[in-house]
Amino acid sequence: MTVTCTREISKADVERFLFSKHITACPACGRFRSQCDLDVHSITCQGSPSGSSSAAPVDVLMVVCQNCGGIQFHDRSVIANWIDCQRRK
Ligand SMILES: [Zn+2]
Repeated sequence: MTVTCTREISKADVERFLFSKHITACPACGRFRSQCDLDVHSITCQGSPSGSSSAAPVDVLMVVCQNCGGIQFHDRSVIANWIDCQRRK
């Protein structure tokens, strides 16, 4: 069974990850984030088009503070791995 990092990561999954890692305060405004305070976007950054052809796309999750609009990026594969570990328990 192969595990890919392309499957959906829900907003609830991201919140559990953030809270378990104690990454719950916005770095910009310091506000403690709760469910209504963050917005999660999944985006894929392609490597520079002029770069080497081996550049793999980077999947990141963009977490937006709805209080001040501050943005944090988290590696999608890191969160996916963490979720897998939680589910195995
Ligand atoms: Zn903020």
